Amino acid sequence: MGARFIFIVGGVLSGLGKGIVTSSIGKLLQSYGYKVTAIKIDPYINIDAGTMRPTEHGEVWVTEDGGEIDQDLGNYERFLNRNLPKRNNITTGQIYLSVIKRERALGYNGKNAEVIPDIINEIKDRIRQVEEDNDFVLVEIGGTTGDIQNEVFLYAARELGRENPSIYILVTYLPFLKNVGELKTKPTQQAAALLRATGIVPDFIVTRSDRRLDEPRREKISKQCFIDKEAVIEDPDCETVYEVPLLFKEQNFGKKILAKFGLEPKKDDLGNWTKLIENMKNADKVVKVGVVGKYVAYGDAEHKDVYISVLEAIKHAAAHLKVKPIIEQIQSTRIEEEGTNILRKYDGIVVPGGFGKTGTEGIIETIKFCRENNVPFLGLCYGMQMAVIEFARNVCGLKGANTTENEPDTPCPVIDFMPEQKELIKLKQYGATMRLGAYPAVLKEGTKVRELYGKEFVSERHRHRYEVNPEYIETLEEHGLVFSGTSPNKTLMEFLELPNHRFFIATQAHPEFHSRFEKPAPLFMGFLKACLEMPQQKTLS
Ligand code: GLN
Repeated sequence: MGARFIFIVGGVLSGLGKGIVTSSIGKLLQSYGYKVTAIKIDPYINIDAGTMRPTEHGEVWVTEDGGEIDQDLGNYERFLNRNLPKRNNITTGQIYLSVIKRERALGYNGKNAEVIPDIINEIKDRIRQVEEDNDFVLVEIGGTTGDIQNEVFLYAARELGRENPSIYILVTYLPFLKNVGELKTKPTQQAAALLRATGIVPDFIVTRSDRRLDEPRREKISKQCFIDKEAVIEDPDCETVYEVPLLFKEQNFGKKILAKFGLEPKKDDLGNWTKLIENMKNADKVVKVGVVGKYVAYGDAEHKDVYISVLEAIKHAAAHLKVKPIIEQIQSTRIEEEGTNILRKYDGIVVPGGFGKTGTEGIIETIKFCRENNVPFLGLCYGMQMAVIEFARNVCGLKGANTTENEPDTPCPVIDFMPEQKELIKLKQYGATMRLGAYPAVLKEGTKVRELYGKEFVSERHRHRYEVNPEYIETLEEHGLVFSGTSPNKTLMEFLELPNHRFFIATQAHPEFHSRFEKPAPLFMGFLKACLEMPQQKTLS
């Protein structure tokens, strides 16, 4: 028998956390002994998220096989504790591109290529591709009911549901109106009506709200949306997103879903997850981490999503170490204006990835501050490149050292294009052309990085065009910088560290993409342990 499909669609507002709902349902079904995978459908025309500006779109998630994807795939991996390939992300652009290519190759035998059935069939085929040996395929459809651009996907979802065992879950928002003192259900009723107009009747409605759902409101949603009261699942704001599977479990949501398919739990094992949530709630120490990056500020607001995998990786390590993390993001241009004194309150600093010049001098100042003051530092991708520049300038005395990304004519190009990238840039081939996905590295015996990973061969995900310029490696090493890991052919510097420092480690990779709630990333564990040893670190009273 093929897989069963669970379609998750949104109503009322975007940004409700459908990804967390999807991931949490997946986690519950996993805990009942079923094999689960998840697909994200993004109705935009882009082929992938690779060319999107971080401040507009949030983080770009990188898959093991080098996909540059919407960050929801990251949530799925963090919850489900499994790798998902790039084909688990479908965009309107991909669908139309394949249909148009097939048409150009006479693939429609002289007939018209049409939205119905050709676009719909392409969507269905792509969804079916991931069935494999999974018991359930969760399909999250981006956007909200009523959007023009997700209509074809809803159509395809309805068709798949006619052909396979499937259910539909509508995630909506209940606003709390202060003047009447109650959660309002009307937008939910309208969202359900819009969904019904596509031929889909929801089996469950998940209600997001800032507080718990009371009985009269539950009753109203049930009556007005034609579903059982038990099929209304509440999802109020939680302290941490990792609590959502437990919240759903309390409401027997997983078992109710199984019952719709005529199934029962094969086991019931959420043990480790529950223990980690308890760790988070009973943390007895607090650790303060500063994340200094280029993309923190967004108008008057602060961007929440742009470094999401980094923030989550810190939280995962903290849950395992039973400490409460206080994480603050600092726009790196602030360091240029206000100096590094504002960093003194942190137990450790992370410098995440980035592109382009703005704010890089602030980042370099930040790294200098960490190096000179023995403050734990973890540099990720651009963070490693900036650490090399800082070391070259201030320790090796290479005045004006820089990356050719920001200063093509720098006198000391300590960071330079990877050779194969030059031609691509000349041809303006920017989409999906970086060094992407998982690559192996060999770790040097006796280094901190090797000790943290506990093995010689590791694999981490990447997304970059530049690298440490091989011509400068000797000089950097002579002055005390240790390259603790390289590509297997030793040409590419993958990890660096400073031996006489509390914790000064950086990597060309993005280890945050391998961090899961149940399996934290070794470098983040090491970093947080070092932060715990900082003098300003406090015990929770
Ligand atoms: N801009 C740098 C490069 O392309 C770093 C990229 C990153 O931080 N992901 O190499």
